[in-house]
Amino acid sequence: MFLDLRTIFITGALTCFIIGLMQFATFATRRFSRSPIWWGASSLCIGAGLLGTALRDEIPDWLSIQFANTVLLAGCLLLLTGIRHFAGKNLYWFGFGSALVAIWVLLSILPGAQGYPKRVLIFSTAMALCDAAIVREAIRLARVEKLRSAWLLAMLFAPTVVIYGARSLIAALDRVGTELFASGSASVGWLAGTGVAFIILRGQALLLLAAERSNEALATLAQRDPLTGAMNRSGLEEWLARQSGGGQQAGQPASILLVDIDHFKQLNDTLGHAAGDEILRLFTRAVRGQLRSSDILARQGGDEFAVVLPGIGADEAVRVAERIRSAFREAARGLAPPPPTLSIGVAEVDLRGRSLEALLAEADEALYRAKRLGRDRVQVRIAPTAA
Ligand code: GH3
Ligand code: MG
Repeated sequence: MFLDLRTIFITGALTCFIIGLMQFATFATRRFSRSPIWWGASSLCIGAGLLGTALRDEIPDWLSIQFANTVLLAGCLLLLTGIRHFAGKNLYWFGFGSALVAIWVLLSILPGAQGYPKRVLIFSTAMALCDAAIVREAIRLARVEKLRSAWLLAMLFAPTVVIYGARSLIAALDRVGTELFASGSASVGWLAGTGVAFIILRGQALLLLAAERSNEALATLAQRDPLTGAMNRSGLEEWLARQSGGGQQAGQPASILLVDIDHFKQLNDTLGHAAGDEILRLFTRAVRGQLRSSDILARQGGDEFAVVLPGIGADEAVRVAERIRSAFREAARGLAPPPPTLSIGVAEVDLRGRSLEALLAEADEALYRAKRLGRDRVQVRIAPTAA
């Protein structure tokens, strides 16, 4: 079936204008960073480029060839810039401007029907390179930030790298004819129609990307203690629920440490609340240095923290607790004397099917004993013996 290329281009242009406005509206909600501004500007540029191309032979060549193609490339580069901005990377304005000036000049020195294959070659190569750079950035985002929608974005740009690459190859072989709207070319119509569908999907994927990151940030915020960056109680509860769902293997031991800073109230009173906050942060850093990536550090409230050590029995957990005590002592060495110390209660536990309350109660008994025996020590839970 023959698809009318001009109609497809005009439909594509109108779609881009609508997507662009949607992306600007997304920014206006203030829920996201400024990246949707770049994407909105990109969509408007691509829309303008498609409209200019659709009007080939109806408007002057400099508008429908030089301007339309340059603005199409600008749209693609703005998208790349927006994704780099989203990833917190440097923006290369000199490269951006130079690419646009170069494409305008090259298209200007290749006018008319004879210049058509070379114009296709230059434009398609530039677009293939730009889309390939977008795929690379999207894959990096997917890997570094674990954003699933970034994989979707990479999958939506990869086919156009191939399509533009193939088109520049065909143009290099001088097999693209001498004009864009040559009648009877059904395959070009289908290709353009597919391209418009991709443009719509990409707009959605970009918004999805911004929404996913914003959701992740909210989830992290909800599960982290803002002062120390340690997990908070609800984060620990959620983590524990995941372990019950199969995270911890049956028969594998785990230990929980309940750690409390000794006489913290006194430290606060003598050094001030801000210094107290700094001691809490210093404590968190010192503990983190002693833990594996699979271990969990969570603030229970005030100066009390829980450490969960999956796969570790009571004996090894006591060694970790002693390491934590000496690491904190070392870190607090520079503070005004007397240096703060830690009391730690240790309990070997089964993480599966247990409430956080029940787990903490086991270590709490040992912590209470450590305090009662004079503080600055580690105590292990004594398992109740059968009557
Ligand atoms: P113990 O040796 O028995 O643990 O005595 P303690 O003084 O450490 O324990 P207590 O529970 O009486 O005091 C904890 C103090 O922690 C009370 C409160 O002022 C302080 N605190 C709680 N949250 C914060 C915080 O976010 N920042 C600071 N600087 N202090 C806090
Ligand atoms: Mg305390």
